[in-house]
Amino acid sequence: MNPIWKQFLVKAVPLLGLCWFLGYLGFATAGWLLAVLALSWWLLRWVTAAARVWNWSADFAVSKVPHVDGWWEDLVARIYRLQKERQQQLERQTNEAAELRHMIQALPEGVLTLDQDNHILWCDPTAAHHLALDPGRDLGLSIINLVRHPDFVNYIRAHREGRQPDAMVKIPGPFPGAILSVQLLDYGRAQRLLLTRDISQWEKLDIMRRDFIANVSHELKTPLTVIAGFLETLSEHTLPVEQQAHFLALMSEQSQRMQGLVEDLLTLSSLESGGDQASEDQVAMDQLLAQVERDACSLSQGRHTMNFTFERGLNLRGNEQELLSALGNLVSNAIRYTPDGGAIHVRWARQQGTQGASFSVQDSGIGIEAQHIPRLTERFYRVDRSRSRESGGTGLGLAIVKHVLMRHQARLEVKSTLGKGSTFSAEFPAHRTVAADGDGQA
Ligand code: ADP
Repeated sequence: MNPIWKQFLVKAVPLLGLCWFLGYLGFATAGWLLAVLALSWWLLRWVTAAARVWNWSADFAVSKVPHVDGWWEDLVARIYRLQKERQQQLERQTNEAAELRHMIQALPEGVLTLDQDNHILWCDPTAAHHLALDPGRDLGLSIINLVRHPDFVNYIRAHREGRQPDAMVKIPGPFPGAILSVQLLDYGRAQRLLLTRDISQWEKLDIMRRDFIANVSHELKTPLTVIAGFLETLSEHTLPVEQQAHFLALMSEQSQRMQGLVEDLLTLSSLESGGDQASEDQVAMDQLLAQVERDACSLSQGRHTMNFTFERGLNLRGNEQELLSALGNLVSNAIRYTPDGGAIHVRWARQQGTQGASFSVQDSGIGIEAQHIPRLTERFYRVDRSRSRESGGTGLGLAIVKHVLMRHQARLEVKSTLGKGSTFSAEFPAHRTVAADGDGQA
């Protein structure tokens, strides 16, 4: 039953009954007096409670619940409960909205919403940064008045007019060399979501991939053309034996060049697919350096003064084959770029300061101009293309060295003076060194 009726029945009916009974017994005045007093007392309490509830109704704040009793208390409890539920629901919705906002902000993409007339409704910081917008100032403005790149404007207009635009458009980003991809998606009632993504890195990789394929094709094309030319001459003409032998020698030289290139490409590809870190096997450097020395002497054939200073028992943790290839490359470069009669000094020693180890190759060769040094480890970068080819270079040697060193957390240092010579040093960190037959650092 409704509590108001219930309380009326429980309290008022017996009281009014009592008043009537007093009248019935002949005390009519007393009965009336009691009825008037009781009704006045009730009215006063009603008005006080109603005034308190009225004041509370300004905001129904759950922290300011009024003190009332009787059925007013039930009414206030009811409002309180509803208000509490509404507050909890509001808090839940606010938290969900905040989480959604954080989630959007964590995305690598920028997100921006537009109405059907291209006015900005909302914009997250990433999109604002990508499109150089100020969310405080630019909300409500038309996006095509703020981002004026023609490809962008055409894309947005095509979408707005229902023409079939491309899935996305590429436009220059906020700083030099940056490229953005922008994509528009429909959602809700005539609203649109604009996604912006920084694709500079992908574009750079794509250019590198295209350049790499062009370089490899070019490198293979030259020897192949030479071989094809000789083969044609040999098949169409009867040449003296000495000339045939000369042509065959030249063809063999070209095929060796191609073989060298393919081997270097395979080495690079296996390095790239081998993860970021080289293994931690102990490499016996005494043996490895002896091999480097033998190879160097055989390549130089006594044309240079070779000098080797190797600290014994100073081993590395790493991959033996990779290290042999990298260190051998530095020595072979020194021999190939040092004219006959020059001097080459190869050292392997502990570094006093860092407790690491250093492999350095110093030559008295042709040297390198300073502007070329930062680019030497790029694939196919050569200071003098014809000299590199003549000496059997593929243009990939230092790229391989850089990769191997990176996988051993080592770095390459190059010092050179044009016409005087160069020093290439591979600096290994302390944690990669180990004393021969020991478990700890060397
Ligand atoms: P390449 O097969 O052409 O030698 P590398 O990657 O080993 O390719 O070296 C890149 C370029 O660096 C070489 O073409 C050469 O111009 C330069 N270079 C490397 N080592 C030396 C050196 N010791 N002295 C002079 N130039 C060098």
